[in-house]
Amino acid sequence: MILSIYKLNIYSVTRQSAFALLVLLLLTSCSRDEERSAEFFVFGTIVEVKLWGVSEQHASQAFSDLQQMFQAMHRDWHAWQPGRLTDINTAFANGESAIADAAIVEMIRRSQAIEKKTQGRFNPATGGLIRLWGFHTSEYPVTGPAPTQDQINSILNHRPSSSDISITNVELYSSNPAVLLDFGGIAKGYAIDLSIQLLQDLGIHNAIVNAGGDLRAIGQHGDRPWRIAVRKPGGGSIGSIDVQNDEAIFTSGNYERFRQHETQRYPHILDPRSGWPAKDIASVTVISEEGLYADAAATALVVAGLDDWPEVARALGLKQIAVVDEAGIVYLTPQMQQRMRFAEDIQRIVIDTSDDNTAH
Ligand code: ADP
Ligand code: MG
Repeated sequence: MILSIYKLNIYSVTRQSAFALLVLLLLTSCSRDEERSAEFFVFGTIVEVKLWGVSEQHASQAFSDLQQMFQAMHRDWHAWQPGRLTDINTAFANGESAIADAAIVEMIRRSQAIEKKTQGRFNPATGGLIRLWGFHTSEYPVTGPAPTQDQINSILNHRPSSSDISITNVELYSSNPAVLLDFGGIAKGYAIDLSIQLLQDLGIHNAIVNAGGDLRAIGQHGDRPWRIAVRKPGGGSIGSIDVQNDEAIFTSGNYERFRQHETQRYPHILDPRSGWPAKDIASVTVISEEGLYADAAATALVVAGLDDWPEVARALGLKQIAVVDEAGIVYLTPQMQQRMRFAEDIQRIVIDTSDDNTAH
């Protein structure tokens, strides 16, 4: 079975529903040989969790724990609704130190490393630019003209970077008041990792956590692997993948959330080095061991564009990647080619990213 895939804005939660997490427990009998699933509405996305081989009671315990965890993440990590992260950003802007929790500290530490590896293409300290472009909203598309180059420069000139943040235990300080953290490119991945961890701690070893096509799976669905569809820009799927044991599969795209002005579209993934939206690439799909890494990498590879994605993939140590351009052509690594069962009408070009001389 191919799980149905759709993708929604991570923060497109309406005010009323922000904390009203929807939990649909579809528990039918007491047998362990069946799937048990629940859906949670969090980060503006429906997160579907499926478990295999657990009793009804065990499943409902897990779903209730997950609900609490998602609710806390939504509250603590929100980029613009007042909460823990906005308090931290206010402290940075005022040159004060701030207290974070372990999860936020982890996201900062990991981001610092990924920002370095991607030479600034992934940079969660660039929330000032994201806000300037109007992307601190749940309502898409955003309309109206792009910011002026002067406005963009007024942020770029300060060069906000996650490496400006120093961490002492859980105390944070930014040497640069222009640092404004926005975990939109990483939060879903980390949330999925923490959900898998929670399930494993409860002794559950066959599960999938799927946030609109961004997912991680462990174990199997009975006697077969979990099978998932890879989203295609504009709808449908480019193919399917059988998830092997424990891995994460994430797709970032420039086609769903954007600013529209007359005929011009400005996607929500920005190049932190220029302050302008990423071009060229419609979507990137990455397979990695971890949701956090896959999520950040997919965003960075969109920023890298058609010329540079093989180089950035090498820097990130990732081998299983599919890139879709604006014309719908799929560029993929040999390792990804082996994993995918393609939809028939997909035009594809294999690119070996281990070869430095690759061109697209
Ligand atoms: P989606 O969740 O829609 O697939 P991504 O995972 O690529 O998208 O995350 C996009 C979000 O990440 C943006 O809405 C913004 O909050 C943030 N973001 C945009 N550009 C960058 C960037 N270059 N580095 C880090 N975060 C970014
Ligand atoms: Mg991402």
